Amino acid sequence: FPTSPSEFFDFCKEHNVQQLDLKFCDIFGAWQHCTYPIDMVDDGVFEDGFGFDGSSIRGWQAINESDMLAVPDPSSARIDPFFGTPTVSLIADIYDPITKQAYDKDPRGVAKRGIEYLKQTGIADTCFIGPEPEFFVFDDVRYMSTQRSAMYEIDSSEAAWNTGRSEEGGNLGHKVGYKGGYFPVSPSDTMHDLRSAMVAELQKVGIVVEAHHHEVGTAGQCEIDMKFSPLIQMADQFLWYKYIIKNVAKQHGKTVTFMPKPIFEDNGSGMHTHISLWKGGDPLMAGDGYAGMSETGLHAIGGIIKHGRALIALSNPTANSFHRLVPGFEAPVTLAMSQRNRSASCRIPMYSPSPKAKRVEFRCPDPSACGYLSFTALMMAMIDGIQNKIDPGEPLDRDIYDMTPEELAETNVAPKSLGEALDALEADHDFLTAGDVFSEGLLKSFMEHKREEEIDQIRLRPHPFEFDLYYDC
Ligand code: GLN
Ligand code: MG
Ligand code: MG
Ligand code: MG
Repeated sequence: FPTSPSEFFDFCKEHNVQQLDLKFCDIFGAWQHCTYPIDMVDDGVFEDGFGFDGSSIRGWQAINESDMLAVPDPSSARIDPFFGTPTVSLIADIYDPITKQAYDKDPRGVAKRGIEYLKQTGIADTCFIGPEPEFFVFDDVRYMSTQRSAMYEIDSSEAAWNTGRSEEGGNLGHKVGYKGGYFPVSPSDTMHDLRSAMVAELQKVGIVVEAHHHEVGTAGQCEIDMKFSPLIQMADQFLWYKYIIKNVAKQHGKTVTFMPKPIFEDNGSGMHTHISLWKGGDPLMAGDGYAGMSETGLHAIGGIIKHGRALIALSNPTANSFHRLVPGFEAPVTLAMSQRNRSASCRIPMYSPSPKAKRVEFRCPDPSACGYLSFTALMMAMIDGIQNKIDPGEPLDRDIYDMTPEELAETNVAPKSLGEALDALEADHDFLTAGDVFSEGLLKSFMEHKREEEIDQIRLRPHPFEFDLYYDC
């Protein structure tokens, strides 16, 4: 892949490129794009960028100051696999056209400032991220099955049938049992070929895939794992990942959702995030403390646990996220560390073969998050933990799902709703604005949108389960 503007133009010639598709990310983690015939593009664009109207992007500029610049990063050039016309894709950074400063609400800018800040602190120069996104595949009768499941159970779905909740006259054929998806071979695993097609496309844009498998969720839940990468690169890759997976599914008459809990009483989709800090090529996480962690590593975990409730507003940023963070489905419910317990939020994998592989797995995040914001916030919590030598507390090595509600309440529980998480973020975000990595403006726009356009909008609508509870009241 090209690394400079001149290599970019060679790359375009080599691939007979006709169009440039410029992509950038909004503060909610969604890619936006605009396309230009390649004759409209010269090397000036890598300096001056493309002008666009930022006022229609959720959470961005007011209409009176809406002109913005999108400046492409030549090293992000990839051939877009889903356009009939040969098209090169470039990821852009957003700038203010007047001040020429990086726009403070550009999530990619947050990640870039985060890495600069990491270096400035002297703690480390590299932050590696390895996310494990999970997702559900449904038949592409768009929104039908997903909407029904979003009610409170999908009566005639595979999941419901296998828990004995099927409607009379439902499909009586043999199906994979409830939570039986993980991970018998085909024909039980009906998603293998689809995942293989997804992997092939991911590889073409330079993503290194480590493994793919069916997940525990009954009705087509899958996981495809990418090899760890430096933070900014991984946040870019995560957008490619979602884009490719959704579009390959569409080509196969399927639809994919990354919503964290599409099906009541089945596993949700997480995005466990493995993270480690490095300095001068040396790993900083391994040592002779608890679970083979260094003091620095344990302080980093202390930071994640201390700021966990606020972090979750960025790593689990949808109202739906909180249907997943409940006991019983391998999702974390309490902010504690453990070397084996998958119900704790910070797991320290014990099978790390060398100090280089030593890392923390933060298990709260889900794939509805914006990678730039979620990964950077996690790193910022770790920096704060290291700077202030924050004690991570006692490890929680017992099964949290076995605890009584009283015992569980004694632990540092994760927020139970998006509203709670946003309140925590509002009260605790100095660790994010340190070094001007996150701006107050970005956090304010984020919280406002989440409260007004999501939480309030859900509250206005009667929930289907209320009919069960109250129709006959
Ligand atoms: N789906 C589970 C979650 O919500 C994780 C399952 C697993 O990967 N072990 O986090
Ligand atoms: Mg996994
Ligand atoms: Mg998994
Ligand atoms: Mg995991």
